[in-house]
Parts: sequence; C-alpha cells; structure tokens
Amino acid sequence: MSDPAIEAVKRAVAAPCIGSDEVASVREALKPIRELHKPEVVRSPDDEQWTECAVCYGAYWPCATAKLIYTTEELES
Ligand SMILES: [Zn+2]
Repeated sequence: MSDPAIEAVKRAVAAPCIGSDEVASVREALKPIRELHKPEVVRSPDDEQWTECAVCYGAYWPCATAKLIYTTEELES
C-alpha cells in the first residue's frame, strides 16, 4: 500500500523513520490539491456513466495527479 504523504515526507527529510506530525503536515499541504482533483460521475445522453477527474478535462478517475495525492485505499474505495 502506498501513502503519498508518507512518501513525500521520506523524500523531504531523506530519513527512513518519520513521525505522524510530519505526515499530518504533508496531508494539510495536499488538502487544497485534493479539493480540486476529485472524482466526478459523468453521464452520457444515452445513460452511460463513468468517473472523471473534476478538473482534468476528459481524464478518467483517478487522474495522474490523484495517483500522487491519494492513498491506495482512498483510490480503491
Ligand atoms: Zn485531476
């Protein structure tokens, strides 16, 4: 399972062990990006439906950015 917040903190401090404060900080930093890149159900005139990113025009969910800012669990739910 991957968690982008944990991966970002590891890259930032280049240390194998990180604390929950650092993870919480990165999650807070990602919040405005997550508010933009969110799933949106699209329905065609013939009632077909699929999920796209709310801001990445025409990109199926999850978009490339979403894969970097959501946990694996969040993307699977
Ligand atoms: Zn997106």
